[in-house]
Formats: sequence, C-alpha cells, structure tokens
Amino acid sequence: MIILFLGPPGAGKGTQCKFLADRYRLRHLSSGDILRRERQEGTDLGKQAQSYMDSGRLVPDDLIVAMMRQEIGAAADGETSGVILDGFPRTLQQAQALDQALRDDDKQVDVVLNLDVDDDKLERRITGRRSCPRCGTAYHVDFNPPRRANVCDRDGAALAQRSDDTAAVVRKRIETYHQQTAPLIDYYGHQGTLQTVDGNVPIEQVTRSLSAILDGCNR
Ligand code: AMP
Repeated sequence: MIILFLGPPGAGKGTQCKFLADRYRLRHLSSGDILRRERQEGTDLGKQAQSYMDSGRLVPDDLIVAMMRQEIGAAADGETSGVILDGFPRTLQQAQALDQALRDDDKQVDVVLNLDVDDDKLERRITGRRSCPRCGTAYHVDFNPPRRANVCDRDGAALAQRSDDTAAVVRKRIETYHQQTAPLIDYYGHQGTLQTVDGNVPIEQVTRSLSAILDGCNR
C-alpha cells in the first residue's frame, strides 16, 4: 500500500504519520527527515540541500526524486504493509516522476491524504515547535510545553528548535507550499485518490478521521 500525505508545513503531517505508521504497520518516509539526516552526516546531498532548506525553498526535483526512489525501493522489505510518504511529492514534476517510477514497478498510489489547515494557524504552530535532540520527544511552547521551560521532561536535555522553524523562513515555506505544492491537490483530485481531512481540529480528532479513511481502504 502506498499512501501520500499532503499538507502545508505545520499541518501536523509528521505527528499523524508516526501514529498511522505504527497502527497500520507502514514505513514512514519523511523527505525532510531524510534530508536532515543527510545534512547531519555531511553527505554531498546534505550539503547541496542546505541552502535551500535554510531559506525555505524546495531542494531541486532531480535530487529529491533520486533520493526518494532509493528510499522507497529500500523500504519494500516485506515486514511492513506499505509506505506512507510525508513531504514528498511537493511539486507536479515530483508527482509525475513518482507515478512513472511506480508504474515501472507495477505499483500505484493507493490513497492521498490531504491535511487542510488555515494559514493563520500554521506560523504559530511551527515557530513554537521544540524537540529533544537526545530522545526526539516533540513539544510546543504553548500547546504542549515541557514541565520546565526548554528542558526535556524525559532526559533533561536542552530542547532545540529546527533552524528553518523561525518566523521569516516559515513564511517563505508557506508561500512555497502555496505556489508549488498546493497544485497537487488538483492533480490527485483528478486521479480520484484524494481524501481531504480538516486539520484545524484537535490532534486526536484528526487521527480518528485519517484512521477511518485507511480502515475503509482495501488493504
Ligand atoms: P519538511 O521537514 O518536510 O518541512 O522539509 C524541510 C525542508 O526540506 C523543506 O523546506 C525543503 O527545503 C526540503 N524538502 C523536503 N521535502 C522536499 C521535497 N519533496 N522537495 C523539495 N524539497 C524538500
């Protein structure tokens, strides 16, 4: 099963994907996480991606498509029932390349989940995000604060903010989403695979809506 997850930055894709991956035994492939790992490891790809990510622009399609083809290929290991792609595709060209790559392997996108969140909520959601560099626990300064400001509840490490989660870069990321990624809603709408869910409501409610869609899919 191949599931795509669309939505603006800050919509809650990562949070929901983690839950769905667990519940439906899916491999969660986040293009942003993979790029951050490449950067941390100092690979060529990581170095090439750096300036785009830091300024809120998209990494060039050819780099992303090659990276994700490899990741999707490596994820097909029989231990999971499929993959959930988070943050890819993000342009029409990426979507077309993905369709072609899947066709070559006699596969197809089964469902596209689109998380719809109002623009005015996104900036506050993103700029308040913090995470523990040691254990990965996620927090939000207003919606899910740690017991002690800026300190992880679990292991006492100082919390970190993603370098592209600052207000100026966030605005650019949201603009980039509208210009380059939002057209995918029509693309998948025409293919008949799109399911839009209201992401403005509490996390658990979003999870219930997404689960209802996946429960209804032929798996
Ligand atoms: P994310 O963690 O999904 O918010 O992605 C962080 C950054 O990684 C984005 O702002 C882009 O610079 C880059 N990125 C992630 N996925 C893609 C993609 N599919 N195409 C191009 N750039 C991407």
